[in-house]
Order: sequence, then structure tokens, then C-alpha cells
Amino acid sequence: MPFVSFRAFNELMKEDYLQRVSALLNKGDFISGTEVAEFEKSFAALCNTSHCLGTGNGLDALKICLNALDVKAGDEVIVPANTFIATWLAVSQVGATIIPVNPDPATYNIDVSQIENLLSAKTKAIIPVHLYGLPADMAAIMEIAHKHGISVIEDFAQAQGATYKGRAVGSFGHINATSFYPAKNIGAFGDAGAITTNDKALAEKAAMLCNYGSAQKYVHQLQGYNSRLDTIQALALNIKLPLLGQWNEQRIAAADIYALLLHGVGDLTLPSVPAGSTHAFHLYVVRTTQRDKLQQFLTQLDIATGIHYPIPPHRQLAYANSFGKFDLTLTETLADEVLSLPMFPGITADEIEYVCGSIKKFFAS
Ligand SMILES: *Cc1c(COP(=O)(O)O)cnc(C)c1O
Repeated sequence: MPFVSFRAFNELMKEDYLQRVSALLNKGDFISGTEVAEFEKSFAALCNTSHCLGTGNGLDALKICLNALDVKAGDEVIVPANTFIATWLAVSQVGATIIPVNPDPATYNIDVSQIENLLSAKTKAIIPVHLYGLPADMAAIMEIAHKHGISVIEDFAQAQGATYKGRAVGSFGHINATSFYPAKNIGAFGDAGAITTNDKALAEKAAMLCNYGSAQKYVHQLQGYNSRLDTIQALALNIKLPLLGQWNEQRIAAADIYALLLHGVGDLTLPSVPAGSTHAFHLYVVRTTQRDKLQQFLTQLDIATGIHYPIPPHRQLAYANSFGKFDLTLTETLADEVLSLPMFPGITADEIEYVCGSIKKFFAS
């Protein structure tokens, strides 16, 4: 029983992909080809933003968002303590200071009730992450940001297609970043990412930053990066994007079966979805004090699981000893207790029943 599988990308799509790759090889527009423009247009439409810009990956997208907002050394950025390390790396790599916030124990997303206590005159931005596919509390976050004149960058790498109060994620923040790493809800066949925004000036600046700080060949206004969406990745994304809605529905249906079968089992805490949000179920994460033993038990039955994430960023060597003044106990407890169960489009009810039956056996013994 795999943890993720790409089986929903079927033979038909594979043929379509290979044909388009073959056409691309003949045409040769490997950088910023028509497939890139087509994808940026479709992804902007999906997110309901006026601008979308492909990037080389999600980490670059986050960094470029911060650069576009002129976040730099001396500035502070509010980030969730419970996230993939990329959210943190983007902030430190532009030289700014990370202010970590514990998660809300019900959603695992940034606890918005703690944000205002952590603001200072140096706070420049908040980066909410829609962790595991569940939108963060964007109304509250945008209200705080507006009140204090702070920018918001959504990290929606795990939540493509999720909605909050009927509106797509990636459209709330001033400028937002996502990733098309292969295992994300819409993944390329390699590294890729994107930025979305409704702000034309930010979009133009971000476009320059992605392309050596240049809007016109050999004229450089900014010290930019080389981080463009490859045409060959855009091509894969163009084939997959129309299926995102249906794939997310399959994830939601799978989550419904998990919820039905795992309700009341052992000491499991199941994901909860606040009213008004749709969860994209990038991951189906349960919580138990028996996590390690349960994972070992499932591994013996050939059921692959994941831990997102086993070591929080502030406990990584990369950030050793820099965050002692913050009480991040809840983040550390989650790191010991969360377990991600198999979740991907195309997972069958039989497979989920097998996983859940095995979990019940574990708790019965
Ligand atoms: C995957 C991910 C990223 C980084 O994306 P890459 O394309 O791997 O650089 C950033 N933030 C979160 C929350 C992610 O899950």
C-alpha cells in the first residue's frame, strides 16, 4: 500500500504528454515558451487572480514574493512554527527575522489569536501556510494585516484548489506562492512553482526578479534570480490542471471514508474542517500518542505512511539554538504525534478499508 501514487495520471495523459514533448523538441522554445504563458493564464483563472507567474520551484516563489515586497534584513516576518522548512528558509534567505507562531490545535494552521502579541514595529509580513491542504483563517489574518499595515504572502504549496469562504486560496494575500513539486495536488514532472497576485506592480517586479532582474534583455534593474518555469514542466502542468478539481474531489471522498471508518478508534484525532472551508487534503493527517508504534505496525503490514513533519524547523540544525525565547511546545508535541495516512487521487475504498482495518487492529491489541 503506497503512501502516494501517480496512478491517476493515466496512459492517455502519458501519450498526450509525450506527443507535446516531441513537438517541443522540434520547436525548441524551452524557456518561456507558449506552454508557460498558457499555464500562467489558466492557473491565474483557477486562483481568481489577475496575475500568475511561473517560477523554478516553491522556495524561489516564496523568496521572490518577499523580495517583491522589499522584505530584508532588519524586518520581521510572522510564520507558522508548524510548517515545511521552505517557509522559514525563504525568510532567512532574504535576511529577515523569523517570528514563529504555534499552531491552532484544532486545525494545525497558524494560531491567529497569537499573531498580534508577536507584532513589532519591524513586522513587515505574515506568511500563512494552508497546511496539509486546509486554508488558514484568512479573514482574521487579512484583518490583522490591514489594521497594522503588514503584507500577507500565502504559502499555498499544499492547498491548490482549496477554498476559504467560497474563494480560492492564493487570492487573499498581497502576493502568494505555491509549488508544483511532483507530489503536490498538482505536480510537475520535476521542480516548478508559481506566484499569484492581483497587484500589477508586484507582478511586474516579481517577473523581473525571476528573470535576472530584467524586463528587457540585457537591461537589469534589480539583482534578480534565474527562476523560471521550464516549458517542459508547464506542458505537464497544462495537461494536469484541468483535472485538479476532480482529483481534489477524489481526495475529499477518500478523507470522508477515513473519517467514517476511523471515528472513535483508539485515541486518534482526525482532521477537522472549519465551516466555510474546503480542504484540499494534500495529506490526511491523524494524531495519536502511540504514533511511532502505530507507524511501525503499519510498516510491517506494508502500509506506507509519512510524518509531516518529524522535526520542526526551530529544532533543525539549520536553526540551532536561535528560537529559545519562543515557547513552541505545541509544535514539538505535534511533531511527535502526527501521522499521514496514504492519500492520493485514485486511492480505492478497498485500500482505505485495509488501512483503517489495520489501524483498528493496532488499537485493539
Ligand atoms: C513543498 C512546499 C514548499 C516548497 O516547494 P518546493 O517547490 O519544493 O521548493 C513550500 N512550502 C510548503 C508548505 C510546501 O509544502
